[in-house]
Amino acid sequence: MYKIIQYRNKCIGCNACVEAAPKRWIVSRKDGRAILVGANIKKGIHMVDIEDWEFEENENAKHNCPVNIIAIKKIG
Ligand code: SF4
Repeated sequence: MYKIIQYRNKCIGCNACVEAAPKRWIVSRKDGRAILVGANIKKGIHMVDIEDWEFEENENAKHNCPVNIIAIKKIG
């Protein structure tokens, strides 16, 4: 499993993560920033655990994010 972390307050709403991993990311119509689907929020940081099969496309989302606000950690 992996944990995805998004520092959402710095999101510029570019849509790159949505294009890479559309099952896990959507852009909010309210504030134009990306929503990490299923995430828990702690102190403004959004986090969700994912299964291994989701890793590759979310790794692409991480690499494509122009402001480097997506992190992914292996947790098991
Ligand atoms: S790629 Fe990064 S900046 Fe662009 S919408 Fe996704 S989280 Fe926001």
